[in-house]
Amino acid sequence: MTAIPTLEQLHALGPKQQPTYPDSGAVDAAVARLRTVPPLVFAGECDDLTAKIAAVTRGEAFLLQGGDCAETFAGVTADNVRNKLRVLLQMAVVLTYAASVPVVKLGRLAGQYAKPRSSDEETRDGVTLPAYRGDAVNGYDFTPEARIPDPQRLVDVYNSSAATLNLVRAFVTGGYADLRQVHTWNTDFVQSSPFGQRYESVADEIERALTFMKAIGADPDEFHRVDFHSSHEALLLEYEQSLTRIDSRTDEPYNVSAHFVWIGERTRQLDGPHVELLSKIKNPIGIKLGPTTTPDDALAYAARLNPENTPGRLTFITRFGAGKIRDGLPALVEKVTAEGLNVAWVCDPMHGNTFEASSGYKTRRFDDVIDEVQGFFDVHRSLGTWPGGVHVELTGDDVTECVGGGEEIDEVGLAHRYESVCDPRLNRVQSLELAFLVAEMLRK
Ligand code: PEP
Ligand code: MN
Repeated sequence: MTAIPTLEQLHALGPKQQPTYPDSGAVDAAVARLRTVPPLVFAGECDDLTAKIAAVTRGEAFLLQGGDCAETFAGVTADNVRNKLRVLLQMAVVLTYAASVPVVKLGRLAGQYAKPRSSDEETRDGVTLPAYRGDAVNGYDFTPEARIPDPQRLVDVYNSSAATLNLVRAFVTGGYADLRQVHTWNTDFVQSSPFGQRYESVADEIERALTFMKAIGADPDEFHRVDFHSSHEALLLEYEQSLTRIDSRTDEPYNVSAHFVWIGERTRQLDGPHVELLSKIKNPIGIKLGPTTTPDDALAYAARLNPENTPGRLTFITRFGAGKIRDGLPALVEKVTAEGLNVAWVCDPMHGNTFEASSGYKTRRFDDVIDEVQGFFDVHRSLGTWPGGVHVELTGDDVTECVGGGEEIDEVGLAHRYESVCDPRLNRVQSLELAFLVAEMLRK
């Protein structure tokens, strides 16, 4: 049996990106509460996801991971969750149908509430306050009170995640994700967008295929429900450790707050507490690799996080930036492949491509996002390895946070509907457009 590291042991490893709480008694109370709450996911579900990601590792499936940069408590509404799920389902249909590859669907949701920040402080109009670190830590309002870290928010994360996951589970098994709904997901969208129209013709073809299958008497369960899993960055040690439990079936530790958790770019120190904690759990896990990662680092992560080389256990999520991926990625892939390591390679084309627009908004160019994914495919194709998936920040709403795409949002247009509390997300049209472009890359 693997022991779960204690919070004391983890804190002794010098954690980065943790809040400084003013009241340690309140932290203890929140942790005590979290230790008693029921699991959000079951260990067996995590194992199912590991098996699915193993197929990605073998080149037999493609991973679609997406959702907000930062979820908010206020964003836990039926409309918001449904819209996100809907765009992910539409993207998955496009990818599955156009590229004939099974798609593993992984939401960046039901737990994505904590944010690492590049600066501890934020200054507006000459006033400096602690940075917003996600609803898991403090409030977004730019006031001294809101920005004080409050550990009760950790319990709120659990409750908000439970509500979100409950709704997602109801949607995916209760008929909303039934393939016969492919058209319904697109209503209110078709007329306004060429990508909506393009989706409509895919949906027509699927409908014809379903009618044919039904006529010959085939109506498998897979037509009526989808497998959908949850994920978030495992950032806050109090939360992640409290929700790590020994599974009675296997006697092994699982993080029961999500099916999949990942280690971010800023907390991936090999001897740090995030690598330590995630090395002990049995969930499928990811780690972000950026331009400063060396091939030897990649081998060291694999040795530390997946010593048994279990397929599906470890996903490398690369986030180089469009200008760096073609030069930076090959050495990593070559060395990992030469060592015979089983990892799924997934492209995060968002975090290496962020810049500040002249209007002051943090944004990304749709073309850079696509260029990074194309670079990712080019590198893997030339090395004979499998471009296993994409990890994207998106929303199901018609926001204006990333520039470009079919609607040609420009820097001035960002102000129209910029709602993200952290990084800019692809909107519904941009997400669907990305899915069509990635499907073409997969087909080649
Ligand atoms: C994120 O995924 O929102 C994030 C902060 O990414 P990274 O750790 O790669 O910078
Ligand atoms: Mn982000």
